[in-house]
Amino acid sequence: MLRFVIALIKHETNTFSPLSTPLSAFGHGNGPSFGDAARARFAGTNTPMGAYLDIAERAGARIVTPVAAEAWPSNKTSRETFERLVRPLEDAVRAGCDAALLDLHGAMVIEDCDDAEGEIVSRLRRIAPGLPIAVTLDYHTNLSSELVENATVITGYKTYPHIDMYDVGKLSADILLKSLTGEVEPVMAWGWKPLLASVMRHAPEDGPSGDILRYARDMEASGKVLAATLLPSFPHADTPFTGVSAIVVGDRKRGGYAAAREVCGRMLDIAWERRAEYRFTAQPLSESIAHAKRLGETACEGPILLIDHCDNCGSGGAQDVMVVVAEIIRQELEDVAIAPIRDAASVALGGKTDMPSIGLSGEPLEVEGLVRAITDGEFTITGPMYTGIRTFLGRTAVLDTGRAQIVVTERAHEPMDLGVFTHCGIDPRRKCFVMLKSRIHYRAGFRPIASHIIECAGVGVTNADLSVYRYQKLTRPIYPLDPL
Ligand SMILES: [Zn+2]
Repeated sequence: MLRFVIALIKHETNTFSPLSTPLSAFGHGNGPSFGDAARARFAGTNTPMGAYLDIAERAGARIVTPVAAEAWPSNKTSRETFERLVRPLEDAVRAGCDAALLDLHGAMVIEDCDDAEGEIVSRLRRIAPGLPIAVTLDYHTNLSSELVENATVITGYKTYPHIDMYDVGKLSADILLKSLTGEVEPVMAWGWKPLLASVMRHAPEDGPSGDILRYARDMEASGKVLAATLLPSFPHADTPFTGVSAIVVGDRKRGGYAAAREVCGRMLDIAWERRAEYRFTAQPLSESIAHAKRLGETACEGPILLIDHCDNCGSGGAQDVMVVVAEIIRQELEDVAIAPIRDAASVALGGKTDMPSIGLSGEPLEVEGLVRAITDGEFTITGPMYTGIRTFLGRTAVLDTGRAQIVVTERAHEPMDLGVFTHCGIDPRRKCFVMLKSRIHYRAGFRPIASHIIECAGVGVTNADLSVYRYQKLTRPIYPLDPL
């Protein structure tokens, strides 16, 4: 009987974030899972791990799940926390197995290591030199040679919001299983460009990524290569690997390394030729809010979304920057729902977090209102991204100022799912305005209900203007910070 080790260790590390990442932050705010609990938590979910479990079960393999641990984005983990997650995985591989299927991020940074994924996979490789290892990566990966050299198959998401996590896990596992029977012989080609792409220009419909992904899908469908992945980078992690990359899995039995290299090169050439399209220019905040207010004066079908993209939890934002909320209040917008403001001890709202990495101090906002609801902040995601995952906002209150209902939470959380409002009694479909601390992932749950979408440039550590960051480890020169 085959024995498969299936594990998830995931964190998108914003090295400019004011938020720390203790062990308890993993498990989407409820602590990591080990052993059978890890399997139970991810079975049936729209994640790579969910796909791995299904495929291993179908293959009749004995499944071992030493660890499943994902934290929402924040700053570096400690070495101690990281070891608590990695050692059970090492032990499981050391006990003997036929394959390892890993659900990783690609932009995880530890206090003493800029490349957590490279370290995880190379440690397993040292234990089991011939072990077939499949890896899935997030779209926001900063790829390193150490990771590529020690993995057998690597695939990554092709969507943003990431609604294809299951499909990507399935692709990685399918290729690895075919390699076990000798049906295919995977070989990987990869490349990197000195290009910092603004996350606000990453989505397939917004910049060059859409055309690159179309080409990648065509090459997979044609059978020229087994998998082609674009990784538009995570520019808020300051590492030597930060930049746009691509990785392509070819088949030595068909096209070989040459075909993989050709497809990879073409994908990166498109990104580089169109690099100017990966830059983002913001409109002044007062103009954005005034524009939204005018739109709200005519009856609209569905809420107008106000996207506070510089303070996005899904990328490590403090999620208590009050600049956009203050402007909404100043311009007297009516019938607004806002989520989530992270503030564990609310007196004056938000603004408790300084952001020394970008030279800003927190500024709380004084608001008066009634507490309309108090919840434990738990709900199960029903939208298309992370479907089926139980998530934990911590203690949550709805503060009603008359004009605005503000969801105040203990922990940071990306508003990618309507549940962030509905679990505490607010129906966002019935509001005139909905303000979200998000950049792109809100589109998973909220774009279908929106009448208009207005991007609002506040401040914060997920600023799309990459010139606000004091990078120290980045490989230079790099576009657009340097003339290239
Ligand atoms: Zn991502």
